[in-house]
Amino acid sequence: MPEPEASAGRLPPPAELQLNVTHQEALGSAFEAAFEAVPNGVVLLDAEQRIVWLNANACVHLALEPQSDISQPLTNLVRDPALVAALNTPQSAEDFRIGSHRADQVLLIQVRSYAPGRRMVLTHDVTESDRMEAMRRDFVSHVSHEIRTPLTVLAGFVETMQTLALQEREQNRVLDLMRQQTSRMEALVSDLLLLATLEGSPKPAIAQWVPLMPLLQSAVADGHHLSGGKHELVCSETPVEDLEVAVEEPEIASALGNLVSNAVRYTPEAGRIELRALLRSDGYLELRVIDNGIGIERHHLPRITQRFYRVDKSRSRATGGTGLGLAIVKHAITRHGGELLVDSSPGQGSCFTLTLPPARVRCAVAQEEETSALTASSPS
Ligand code: ADP
Repeated sequence: MPEPEASAGRLPPPAELQLNVTHQEALGSAFEAAFEAVPNGVVLLDAEQRIVWLNANACVHLALEPQSDISQPLTNLVRDPALVAALNTPQSAEDFRIGSHRADQVLLIQVRSYAPGRRMVLTHDVTESDRMEAMRRDFVSHVSHEIRTPLTVLAGFVETMQTLALQEREQNRVLDLMRQQTSRMEALVSDLLLLATLEGSPKPAIAQWVPLMPLLQSAVADGHHLSGGKHELVCSETPVEDLEVAVEEPEIASALGNLVSNAVRYTPEAGRIELRALLRSDGYLELRVIDNGIGIERHHLPRITQRFYRVDKSRSRATGGTGLGLAIVKHAITRHGGELLVDSSPGQGSCFTLTLPPARVRCAVAQEEETSALTASSPS
């Protein structure tokens, strides 16, 4: 009679047993390593809610100790009421958020069953995604508000023109006010599109070199036009005549244009606005727009580059501001590896500085000499 096959009830021979144990151990280590590599926190609990195993992320998120907290009931160590309630509810499927021990951190908690009567707690750090979501909501509500205001005014004027028989002079005045509102919406849409383009395009390569001086002169010319001769506008004398910069010209032109436009709008008549370029000894180029206008109180400074942040709302709107100018400037210069620095004091004036890193600045004359030396030395 043939030997009956090894059944589940029978112990395998010792060598086979050893092989099985080794296999189980290897599998256990692989699972442990995999759970450790998960970007979230994982805490496995037994039927009494005691910690059986936890990964390093869970220790960080929940301020737990990897060794000494094993076998402790999780709710003794993390006393958040939402977590305690979820673990005390047999079928808790709803995910929820808790504040972590770090004041600025928000955790998404998921409680799941992984074996009969046993559950695991998964923690995700959602601080950044929550912040982005709040920013997005805030942005949409700001845009809607900014567009609704001129639209409401326009609708009012349309109704006036439909219902009242206006004299020609009055009609022209209303049409002029309507044009102002459409210009405001146009400016807003164009700034929004520019911001979206800046956010969506890759960083400008160091490929195209443009002379610096015309960029500055064009910003000053635009400033003259905007000021209508009411301010003194100067491009200060510095030895930057032959400098070239590796930039996306429209972006840096728009950044300088915004700074000069702000200087004009926030400087009373007869004020002075100066555009100054300065090559620092560490190779950085500084482009400064300095005015002696109304200035900005110190506590506003950290926020003025945020979208739609305005110190004086009515002055900004009255002078055609969209509240996006400095956000555009900051984006444009950061994409080039530079910075926007602001120094200002109320009643004294402001100095807005754009910096460009040395890799994006070169001397055109030196470059020409280098090229001709190379051409002369190369075999013909
Ligand atoms: P806005 O379209 O309102 O001018 P910006 O983003 O360009 O928007 O500027 C944000 C705010 O910073 C302005 O509303 C204004 O309060 C302040 N600001 C900007 N530039 C100057 C300046 N040169 N002098 C004083 N305040 C300024």
